[in-house]
Amino acid sequence: MEHAPNTTKTPTFEGLLEERRVLLADGATGTNYQTMGMEPGLAPEEWLFQAPDRVLELHRAFVDAGADILLTCTFGATSLRLQEGSLAGRTREVNLRAAELARDAAGSSRLVAGSLGPSGQLIEPYGLLDHDTAVAAYAEQASALAEGGVDLLVLETIFALEEAVWAVEGIKSASELPLVVSFSYDMGTRTMMGLSPTDAVTTILPLGVAAVGANCGRSLADTDEVVTEVLAAAGDVPVWIKPNAGVPKVVGSQVVYEAGPDMLAEHVVRYVEQGARVVGGCCGSTPEHVAAIAQALGR
Ligand SMILES: [Zn+2]
Repeated sequence: MEHAPNTTKTPTFEGLLEERRVLLADGATGTNYQTMGMEPGLAPEEWLFQAPDRVLELHRAFVDAGADILLTCTFGATSLRLQEGSLAGRTREVNLRAAELARDAAGSSRLVAGSLGPSGQLIEPYGLLDHDTAVAAYAEQASALAEGGVDLLVLETIFALEEAVWAVEGIKSASELPLVVSFSYDMGTRTMMGLSPTDAVTTILPLGVAAVGANCGRSLADTDEVVTEVLAAAGDVPVWIKPNAGVPKVVGSQVVYEAGPDMLAEHVVRYVEQGARVVGGCCGSTPEHVAAIAQALGR
C-alpha cells in the first residue's frame, strides 16, 4: 500500500535551508528584556522562572515580526555560568524550561534553536577551564536542550578557538541535532582573543557543522568586513549572520544602539545578497528590527 507524502511534517533546519533562499532568525534576548524591565544585573535565565509570560511575549513578538527561528533564553545556561548565581545546580531544568517556552511560541511550523554561549571562563593555562570540564558542561546543556525539543543548536558569541572546539566536542557527544557555530568579532574584524574569521571558520568546518557564522560584533561597518571574510572561508557551508544593531551608546540611564530598524535591514539585506543563508539580529535588535529585515527581504 502506498502512503501519501506527509505534508504536515515538522520542518527541519536542513529542510528549510533547501527550500528557501534565506531563513530569518530572531533578534536579541538580553537587551530586549532590559527594555521590558528586567532588573539590571539579573541573568536573563532568571526570567524563565520569574517572568515566563515576558519570555513568551518576546518570543511571540519575534514570530509576529516574521522570524522563522527562535533562540532559547539559555545563552548563559551552561553549569559553568549558572554556578555563579541563584540557578546553580539547575542546568537541566533551566534548559528544559527555556526550550519549552520557545517551542510554545514557535509552534510546529517554525524552528527553535537552543542557544549555548561562552563558558565565561578562560581555558588553561590562562585560566582554570580544562578540556574535560568544558566538554562535560556543553554535553550536559546540549542534552537538556535536545530533550526540551529544540530543532537545532547554536553555539554563539564564541571568541576563543580552543573553547569552541571543546564545546563542539561536548555538544556533538550529546546530540545529533544540526549545530551552528557563530563567533563574535567584537574587536573590529577579530574576536576578543585576536582570532580572524578565516582562522575560526577553517578550524570549525572539519568538525562537521550545519552552518558557521558571526553574531554581535562592534560596528556594522566592521561586521560588513567580517561577513565578507566568513562567506569566503565557508565555501558551500551555510553562513549564519546576526549582527548587533551597531555601537551602543549610553544616553542618560539608557543604552541606545545606533542602528534603527531600517539601517540594520539595509546591511542585512546586503549580507543575504552576498550569500548569507540565515540572518537576524543580536544585541539591540528589537522585534521592529526583525520586522524591517523581513520587509526588506520581501516577505
Ligand atoms: Zn549580542
